[in-house]
Amino acid sequence: MFKINENYQKLPGSYLFSTIAKKVSAYTKANPEKEIIRLGIGDVTQPLAPAVIEAMHKAVDEMGNADSFRGYAPDLGYEFLRNAIAEHDYRSRGCDISPEEIFVSDGAKSDSANIQEIFGPDNRIAVCDPVYPVYVDSNVMAGRTGVYDAQAGTWSNVIYMPCTMENNFVPEFPKETPDLIYLCLPNNPTGTTITRTQLQEWVDYANQVGAVIIYDAAYEAYISEPEVAHSIYECQGAKTCAIELKSYSKNAGFTGVRLGYTVVPRELKCGEVSLNHMWARRHGTKFNGAPYIVQRAGEATYSPEGKAQLKEQVAYYMKNAAAIKNGLKEAGYTVFGGVNAPYIWLKTPEQMTSWEFFDYLLEKANVVGTPGAGFGPSGEGYFRLTAFGSYENTLAALERIKKL
Ligand SMILES: *Cc1c(COP(=O)(O)O)cnc(C)c1O
Repeated sequence: MFKINENYQKLPGSYLFSTIAKKVSAYTKANPEKEIIRLGIGDVTQPLAPAVIEAMHKAVDEMGNADSFRGYAPDLGYEFLRNAIAEHDYRSRGCDISPEEIFVSDGAKSDSANIQEIFGPDNRIAVCDPVYPVYVDSNVMAGRTGVYDAQAGTWSNVIYMPCTMENNFVPEFPKETPDLIYLCLPNNPTGTTITRTQLQEWVDYANQVGAVIIYDAAYEAYISEPEVAHSIYECQGAKTCAIELKSYSKNAGFTGVRLGYTVVPRELKCGEVSLNHMWARRHGTKFNGAPYIVQRAGEATYSPEGKAQLKEQVAYYMKNAAAIKNGLKEAGYTVFGGVNAPYIWLKTPEQMTSWEFFDYLLEKANVVGTPGAGFGPSGEGYFRLTAFGSYENTLAALERIKKL
């Protein structure tokens, strides 16, 4: 008789988004005349940029021609894309990352889940709390849990670093030393970030204790403040302790196109063993390359036209973010984020729990957001709104909230 992987039994349920969907559907069924505005979406809504579409069309035509047809892509990704990444995302920012250190993939979610495979099962992980659920879930699936504390609902090998208004959403070095540290900056869900100097402290800490930082930079394109690093490799010594994940989903609207990459520097080693070689081995074994057409689309995001068009898309979302942030402030809310990220994190009023505030907003304003408690214990008492809706809907939602 076969046996299942019992680690999957330890997974926390995907309670958050299914509960939201159920509540919204029950409400609309009971109140069919009400028009719901969704400010909970974590997906982009703007169409792909013309430069991207043009590159894809051209690549499609090439694939239909015997002279320019392409089969399997190279394991690490096409050189044209890895060269463009090295040049535009790193060298132009003074970061010395070579194309051999860049692994093209189908997105940052899968990379963030898969990267833990090259680390031992006993490694302890540290995550920010609240947190993007993939980091914890993928480690639980891999059995990286340790002893369960039923009362706290936590595992001994998963260290939560609370990020709340009390510490300005800046994670503090944990009391117990972690082996892997997940940092997502700018952050989903809080929309907050830290300065280059604060990030340098994390790099120094990781090098000192012998930990690896897994740095999720999915929201890099939304950074507006000069003191915020666009890459962890802007910090001294990051190449001996950090892996960086990037995605074209939020900066270029590739959520349905699928493209990302991971940087594993050659200097990142465990004794004599190079993590770059290990990830190359893993990538070559379990992944057969991102599509040629999509890699050409990715390349187009770095052309002068592509860059200008993507800047406009990001500006559109950030105009929504500013409208939400300012509107909520006028309505008397305490708000965070929305400056370097398309997320606004608000403190629920009058000691309401996240779910109480969810119901209140749904029933009284017909606006849907995401309860902070769904992202971790320290998210309780907070609520996430996103800037990915249309400008018109965003303004309409704020008018309703202001009238409450
Ligand atoms: C959206 C998002 C990603 C991007 O994932 P893809 O698989 O590239 O679409 C990665 N990390 C975080 C925290 C995100 O919110």
